[in-house]
Amino acid sequence: MRHLFRNGYRGVRDSAFTITNVPNPNGQRFEIVSDADAKFNGGCLCGAVRYRVQGPLRDVVNCHCSQCRRTHGHFGAYTAVERNQLTLTCERGLKWYASSPTVRRGFCCECGASLFWDNRDLEIIAIAAGTLDPPTGLKTIRHIFTADAGDYYRIDDDLENYPGSMLTDW
Ligand SMILES: [Zn+2]
Ligand SMILES: [Zn+2]
Repeated sequence: MRHLFRNGYRGVRDSAFTITNVPNPNGQRFEIVSDADAKFNGGCLCGAVRYRVQGPLRDVVNCHCSQCRRTHGHFGAYTAVERNQLTLTCERGLKWYASSPTVRRGFCCECGASLFWDNRDLEIIAIAAGTLDPPTGLKTIRHIFTADAGDYYRIDDDLENYPGSMLTDW
């Protein structure tokens, strides 16, 4: 077991992360909603990637960008957590794909599951919500990049809706 990314990434360690609004280096804020003491487990379809989250998770954001749709086969539904609250408990299958100069996506090379979205400029790492073991206690709160949504489905719920990123590169 080891913690992900303890080095090499910019980040501010402070207790503020455990409260509701979390500033990141760009001055944006993330809502962290679950109990600070909560623990979650998750993993890929085959079990070659397993992880543990110790600490609060953000509610779920559906990203309709073309990259998420291609890697997930549909839109991406992501929760997020402070980077050092994520521990890999099995990483045998984990591979990373650099989808942009600052973002890499973690997937299982044995079963093909998409698990992580990791922007090196952010303090958080996004986790595909469907990989969490239930119950998660989370809810879906918004859609982003809806201007890039596929033409084969409709977004007709009452959730917040952003045509692009509500956050930089998010
Ligand atoms: Zn797998
Ligand atoms: Zn996306």
